[in-house]
Amino acid sequence: MQTLMLKRFLIFSLLVFVAIAVQAQVDTLTFEKPDTTLIDTTSVQTLIAIDDDDDETSLDEEDYNIPIDSLLIYTEGEFPAHKLYKIWQTNQVNPYDVRLVDMPDTVAINLAGYCHPIRNVVTSNFGFRKWRYHYGIDLRVKRGDSIFCSFDGMVRIARYSKSYGYFVIVRHYNGLETTYAHLSKLFVKPEQIVKAGELLGWGGSTGRSSGPHLHYELRYLGVPINPNDIVDFQTYTTHDSTLYLNASHFDYVKEIEKIRVWTVRKGDTLGGISRKTGVSINTLCRLNNITTKTILKIGRKLRYT
Ligand SMILES: [Zn+2]
Repeated sequence: MQTLMLKRFLIFSLLVFVAIAVQAQVDTLTFEKPDTTLIDTTSVQTLIAIDDDDDETSLDEEDYNIPIDSLLIYTEGEFPAHKLYKIWQTNQVNPYDVRLVDMPDTVAINLAGYCHPIRNVVTSNFGFRKWRYHYGIDLRVKRGDSIFCSFDGMVRIARYSKSYGYFVIVRHYNGLETTYAHLSKLFVKPEQIVKAGELLGWGGSTGRSSGPHLHYELRYLGVPINPNDIVDFQTYTTHDSTLYLNASHFDYVKEIEKIRVWTVRKGDTLGGISRKTGVSINTLCRLNNITTKTILKIGRKLRYT
């Protein structure tokens, strides 16, 4: 009897693991599974890159469970950069599933006419937040501040999400897409033609957000680019009138892929995790900004590379 139960449990665990692995393939910006007991079955987990810190802009399951039937409707038509993107989709943040780490070519992107979304200071930068990755840049706003469109283009998404709150994604003629999240009010609709400098919405703190700010992203074929590579956030202008985009802009993806995360299980100690991962306690403390006295809660994720 017990063997049968064990078999069932093992099969279930395997199915769960496969399901998680498949989900992780959906998109580099996939969501974090909240049920840590599922993760316990594998004990070692590679980094699931998400779009946020603890209190903002991680993409939730709902952002990935939207049917993509609408792709079929849009095989023709005049959408910005349609030759490049091939598809037009008004729900999913990144329906393109493109990997650019090894892109062979350099692409020239015209940045002329750039308009800064809100002239205010950066409150959180693009990059690692502990083991998570922040794919945008946060700009301080007051609730109700006007948020402006960066380049000419067409609104692709304007809706509410649990994580982004009210947000807008605009596809631009130059091939970039820009995201504006946590807005308090939207003034545009999908497929609306917009100009650089046009009002898209009001700044706010909707979705997973700890206070009013604009979460701003610049993406190419769905893959985030460090906004600092394009924009000078001191002068609110672009560094240059052309961006020569190449594989080096996506080197950060390699850094993310190197990272491994240990999910704390019942009975785990720092010493035990150190033995199992082969990483010293000191390194574990440094990577996770903890001390040997920190209590390790079950389900907590610790970087070990
Ligand atoms: Zn952000």
